[in-house]
Amino acid sequence: MPQANAKLNAFPVFVRVEGEAVAIVGGGDEALAKARLIGQSSAVLRIIAENAEPELLAFIGQSGASHVAAAYDASQLEGAVMVFAASGDEALDRRVAADARELGIPVNAVDRPELCDFFTPALVNRAPVAIAIGTEGAGPVLAQMLRGRIDQMLSPSLGSLATLAASLRGAAEKLLPKGNARRRFWNSFFEGAPAHAVEAGQLSQAHDAAVDLLLSNAPASGHIALVGAGPGAEDLLTLRAHRLLMEADVIVHDALVPETIVAMGRRDAERLPVGKRKGCHTKSQAEINALLVELGRQGKRVVRLKSGDPLVFGRAGEEMAALRDAGIAYEVVPGVTAAFAAAADFELPLTLRGVSSSMVFTTGHDLKGNSLPDWAKLAISGATVAVYMGRSVAAEVAGRLIEAGLSPDTAVAVVENASLTNRRRFHGTLADLPSLEARGDLSGPVMTIIGDAVAGANFERSEPLAAHRNEGAVKAAAEKVQP
Ligand code: SAH
Repeated sequence: MPQANAKLNAFPVFVRVEGEAVAIVGGGDEALAKARLIGQSSAVLRIIAENAEPELLAFIGQSGASHVAAAYDASQLEGAVMVFAASGDEALDRRVAADARELGIPVNAVDRPELCDFFTPALVNRAPVAIAIGTEGAGPVLAQMLRGRIDQMLSPSLGSLATLAASLRGAAEKLLPKGNARRRFWNSFFEGAPAHAVEAGQLSQAHDAAVDLLLSNAPASGHIALVGAGPGAEDLLTLRAHRLLMEADVIVHDALVPETIVAMGRRDAERLPVGKRKGCHTKSQAEINALLVELGRQGKRVVRLKSGDPLVFGRAGEEMAALRDAGIAYEVVPGVTAAFAAAADFELPLTLRGVSSSMVFTTGHDLKGNSLPDWAKLAISGATVAVYMGRSVAAEVAGRLIEAGLSPDTAVAVVENASLTNRRRFHGTLADLPSLEARGDLSGPVMTIIGDAVAGANFERSEPLAAHRNEGAVKAAAEKVQP
């Protein structure tokens, strides 16, 4: 989940070192540490140390590294693909760095980032799989901590699994068409029977299971996941939503879903924005239904990404009906709905013992006409009411509820951009609520929560709605007295 503008100053790549010389200048601990790190590769180590300490000598003996036991000279670096200046002597390290650069060889100088062409990572080694962690020198301890955590997460047999995968790559490319079918084979390979057999140390069973999988080559069948993206903050996405996003061929998303979440999909996944922001429908609901059916028929794995929870004011009902009618498989992945995010931002108990024991999710757009909807009665009997898409009908909602008998003093909490860092919170009473409609300073989605339970919220970080109402009233009054 990258921050929008964070750029790396050092970009990670994997350098081919098999059979190549890597020169390390130095005879002490720094040189030994680098020798151990590079010793995890099949590079040929050349250790240049006139006076190597015993531990380094022991390492050279065991690893078969070559040892140049002479005073340093630039010619000793020739032919190396990388050079480490690790003597612990600043003047010598500077000389080594300058010589390497003269010879056109990238150099790393221990503890002297300003002299480095490259940095070495903290390494999780499951050869041929490698995970390299870098902090551009900012936090070596952090890098080691992350290394420890990642190391624990990964099976020790991951390397064997990757080696088996490499041995099957040619066959998979020959037998399976590029795209969905091949990707699905690899997903099953890395998560299914072959992976389990490798984990259990049964390599020949793993190979057989992989061949079975390859030959079964089932025709691709489409699948649509209706996925809740949560209220906006990326880390409120569920782990399941994240996994499905990573597997999707196509991501069909609404305008309210932030770009950072859509970007969590595979880089080559197709991304189809289908709009639906108030006043700018890029596609009608019928067109969206038809699009999902069409993608399913093409055998695509689709994530239909909706803000909040897909089953709350998300028109998922229509999409599911269309998919059912077309016989296309689908599943629903819940998300954190805006009302819950707004309540969390306000530390607002949606149910409160002795005060409120029921909850209403409404849009407030059903208040037209003369008869009050049932939820208004629930509000009067103490339910906490969450109003979605309620900004443009704030006055109508407040007016009708008061008319129906709810006290104008009933507490109201409003959150714009709930869960996001640019969130704004407002508090007041039902009588203040109409002021919301006139505000020109709210451009994000707005959640309104009404009810006695709201009085239990934390108002320390919210602005009073009334301040705005009074400003408006004062201005109107002032305008009236002008000639
Ligand atoms: N399925 C979504 C709701 C879609 S309707 C969900 O479960 O949250 C769109 C409305 O949701 C908006 O008009 C607004 O009232 C509310 N909403 C969505 N995200 C929000 C957010 N981050 N902050 C406040 N309200 C939000």
